[in-house]
Amino acid sequence: KEEVLRKPEWLKIKLNTNENYTGLKKMMREQSLHTVCEEARCPNIHECWAVRRTATFMILGDTCTRACRFCAVKTGLPTELDLKEPERVADSVVTMNLKHVVVTAVARDDLKDGGAAVFAETVRAIRRKNPFTSIEVLPSDMGGKMENLQTLMDAKPDILNHNIETVKRLTPRIRARATYERSLEFLRRAKEMQPSVPTKSSIMIGLGETKEEIIEAMDDLRENNVEILTIGQYLQPSKKHLKVVKYYHPDEFNELKEIALEKGFSHCEAGPLVRSSYHADEQVNEAAKH
Ligand code: SF4
Ligand code: SF4
Repeated sequence: KEEVLRKPEWLKIKLNTNENYTGLKKMMREQSLHTVCEEARCPNIHECWAVRRTATFMILGDTCTRACRFCAVKTGLPTELDLKEPERVADSVVTMNLKHVVVTAVARDDLKDGGAAVFAETVRAIRRKNPFTSIEVLPSDMGGKMENLQTLMDAKPDILNHNIETVKRLTPRIRARATYERSLEFLRRAKEMQPSVPTKSSIMIGLGETKEEIIEAMDDLRENNVEILTIGQYLQPSKKHLKVVKYYHPDEFNELKEIALEKGFSHCEAGPLVRSSYHADEQVNEAAKH
C-alpha cells in the first residue's frame, strides 16, 4: 500500500465559514460567473474578498479542454462562448468594490484564438467600469500562438501572469499540452510586446522537484525577464490527482524567497498557502516602482 503523507500543522487551517459571503456567492450564480476563490475553496477567501478586496475570476466557462494532473477544473469540450461575459465580470468588479482583480481562463483549445478576444474584451470592460482597479491577467498559453498573446497584451493589463507551474523535468508529467519552453517564450514575448507591463509566474512545489531544479526555474524565468514570482505548496485536490511528494516547511519557503530576491525578482511571495493571486495587490504597487 502506498504511503500517504500526513498534512503538517501549518496547513491545517479552518475555512472561515462564519463570514457572510452569501450575497456575493448568490450574485456569482445569478450572473453565471466563476471564481477560482470559490471553486478551489481557497483558504484565503476572507482575506482576499473582504480585507484586500481582490478576487480571481475564471472566464470562458468552467470546462477546460486540457487535463493537467494537478488541477481541479473539469475537463471536456466546452459548448459555448459567452460574448456578454466581459460586461458581467466588469459589473461584479464594481459590486465587489475590488481594488485588484485577477482574470484567468480555462484553456480553450477548441477556439481558433484560444479565447483571446473575449479575454481582451474583459480587460477593457473592467477598465471602463473600474478605472482605479488594477487588472492582472493569467492566461494559459492560448494555444501557444503569439498573435493570441498580442490580442491580450493590446488591452494593456497591469500584470501579465503566466504560470510555468513546475520545474522543467516534471513539466511533461504535470501539465497537459503546455511545454516549459513555450511558457518561457510566452512570458518573454509578453514583455517585448508591452515593456511597461510587469510579467509574473508561479510554481507549485511538493511534486518531487529538487531545490536545484527550483533554482534553475528561477534562473530561466529571470533570463526571460520575469519580474514577479510566487511559490506555493502543491495540495492534492482529490484522490485522482497527483500525490504530494513533500510538504515544505515555512522556513524552506522563506529561504526560497530570499534566493528569488537575490536573483533579481522585484517581488516574491513564497509560503505554504501562497497561490498565484495571493497578495497580488501589493505586486502592482511594487512593480510600479520598477
Ligand atoms: Fe481568490 Fe487568489 Fe485570494 Fe485565493 S488567493 S481567495 S484564489 S484571489
Ligand atoms: Fe487547469 Fe489550466 Fe490545466 Fe485547464 S489548462 S486543466 S484550467 S491548469
